[in-house]
Amino acid sequence: MLVDIITIFPQMFQGPFAESLIKRAVDKGLVRINIHNLRDFTHDRHRTVDDSPYGGGPGMVMKPGPIFEAVETIKGEGAADVILLTPAGDRFTQQIARDLAVKGRLTFICGHYEGVDERVREGLITRELSIGDYVMTGGELAAMVVVDAVVRLIPGVLGSAESLTEESFSSGLLEYPQYTRPEAFRGQRVPEVLLSGNHEEVARWRRDQAIRRTFLKRPDLLEKTHLTEQERRLVAGLREG
Ligand code: SAM
Repeated sequence: MLVDIITIFPQMFQGPFAESLIKRAVDKGLVRINIHNLRDFTHDRHRTVDDSPYGGGPGMVMKPGPIFEAVETIKGEGAADVILLTPAGDRFTQQIARDLAVKGRLTFICGHYEGVDERVREGLITRELSIGDYVMTGGELAAMVVVDAVVRLIPGVLGSAESLTEESFSSGLLEYPQYTRPEAFRGQRVPEVLLSGNHEEVARWRRDQAIRRTFLKRPDLLEKTHLTEQERRLVAGLREG
């Protein structure tokens, strides 16, 4: 996968993309990430990327010219999904991460100030993504969040593909509780079933716990999850208290 990120703060990406899983994916050649300084696509002495809003009002708006030029230069002949990070976008989810993980090329535009000129939205971008209902200073952290969640889904990036099928949201549920050594810690013991070596019972316990946890913390997810008849009875029981 080729990822291009257009930003006025290219240095921000140095730490997060130089560590851990993303670094491994880059080193393995599974993803290439190019960070582009939007100011390199300006033509005035001050490398201006913003201007005041027509109609008045506070703050500045990112000019369309440098953004169009950046995307068109970067894209060359190759088609790419052009994603704008914005609080007004679709809420980013694991399903969207899965959809993006199969794409060959993604281009991200990080906004700043009051956001980007509307003509960028209309003429350039193919998707708008928000990482949640809050407003950040810029799109850089949002781009990092999206890239991280997408890159770990690219085949070969994670050591064990199994962890993808077991983790939160993969089956529509939150993940079951996890334990590691020691067996007893500050008076709390690991549930006996996990020590039993009985894989079937462990799987059943985990599924049951995942349903209980989802019911307590994210009941909205249960509405969209496929449950067996027995699991539906469990949820009904939880509802009745
Ligand atoms: N005036 C804009 C509004 O009310 O929607 C907010 C602009 S915000 C201060 C500057 C930039 O940060 C946005 O253009 C966007 O790129 C990014 N940003 C802020 N919050 C975000 C979020 N929740 N998800 C994705 N990007 C966000």
